Amino acid sequence: MTQNSKLKTQNYICKTPEDTFDLGESIGNSLNGGEIILLKGTLGAGKTLLTKGILFALEFDIDEVTSPSFTLVNLYEAKFNVFHIDLWRLEDGGNTAFAVGLDEILEDENAVVIIEWAEKLNEFETDRKIIEVRLKGDGDDRREISITNLT
Ligand code: ADP
Ligand code: MG
Repeated sequence: MTQNSKLKTQNYICKTPEDTFDLGESIGNSLNGGEIILLKGTLGAGKTLLTKGILFALEFDIDEVTSPSFTLVNLYEAKFNVFHIDLWRLEDGGNTAFAVGLDEILEDENAVVIIEWAEKLNEFETDRKIIEVRLKGDGDDRREISITNLT
């Protein structure tokens, strides 16, 4: 990403898990379909909880939303199709986009794609809107969450 002119980052402090969920819900409410959401932050940062908030906004049963750590990809048929990807178990530096079949996933033009451990995602071509969410903090501590529209 070389173009910086469009970059706009919004920073949030989430004091409780409910705050994290609510922030996810507001992200979900802003979606039109077709977005890629990159979730970056260590184990326990709140990526899956934020994803539940997004799916809640998209009228999906959030009990069905779990980290696809082993399956790599979950598909939720919500207001839009949502592909929930977790790259945690994949090797750094590998072709992670290929490993999860991102090309095929992106053939579904209206689908929202949410990627946990997006730090591990290698470069790939797309004209989709990309939203980067960075989560900092762990344990019972508050989370600092920043949202940047990369494109
Ligand atoms: P990840 O998917 O990034 O590994 P999870 O979404 O599973 O993380 O969340 C890990 C834990 O962090 C959960 O117990 C969740 O309730 C907690 N958590 C999330 N946000 C906050 C917050 N703002 N304050 C305190 N705990 C939080
Ligand atoms: Mg997770």
